[in-house]
Amino acid sequence: MEYFEVGTKKDILYWSKRLYQKGMTPSTSGNISVRTKDGILISASGVCLNDMDEDDIVLIDFDGNVLDGKKKPSSEKFLHTQIYDLRDDINAIIHSHCPYITAFACSNRIMQEPIMAEFVLYFNKIPIAKYHLPSSMQLAIETVEYFKISDTVLMQNHGVVSGADTLQEVFYTLESLRAYSETYFGTQVLGGAKKLSRKHIKEIMSLKK
Ligand code: 13P
Ligand code: ZN
Repeated sequence: MEYFEVGTKKDILYWSKRLYQKGMTPSTSGNISVRTKDGILISASGVCLNDMDEDDIVLIDFDGNVLDGKKKPSSEKFLHTQIYDLRDDINAIIHSHCPYITAFACSNRIMQEPIMAEFVLYFNKIPIAKYHLPSSMQLAIETVEYFKISDTVLMQNHGVVSGADTLQEVFYTLESLRAYSETYFGTQVLGGAKKLSRKHIKEIMSLKK
């Protein structure tokens, strides 16, 4: 794997490209950030995550003020600042409009069907925050409430936001959720999934211990 220090601009650029190339952030949608000792490094507003360079990453403080960089920070900066404020263990955040995952957010359908062992083991239930205008403080405040119980939250009629210690972990989480979503849609075409039984779920959960 390419070498770069975690929590740097290079880290952001590497995972941004992988996100875009996986169809997680079509066009100029989505945004990405890391917590550093100087503040938050966040993608600029209106950029395509595949085409960013270091100048498209802005340093902001925990109130959303620009500390370094010429570009305007992501319009969802408050979503990022509020999550970092609440959760000391989160040092990397990705907001994505991945169409497969967003389909659940747009239909107000909770992702919880026990159709794959991997999903049962790692996710169980992803909460959905109520719709508010993208980029609004209200959206940030209501979405962040769910970070008290989950590391990943769907945003109604909008997308998904997820946080972890590193961008690599967040990317893998979103990639797994996307795989679950695609599999789920595939099962619908094929007549519906056979759900795992309670006994199977119990056995799967015991793998955690
Ligand atoms: P920004 O380009 O301002 O980060 O906005 C993208 C987005 O997904 C808004 O919700
Ligand atoms: Zn968005």
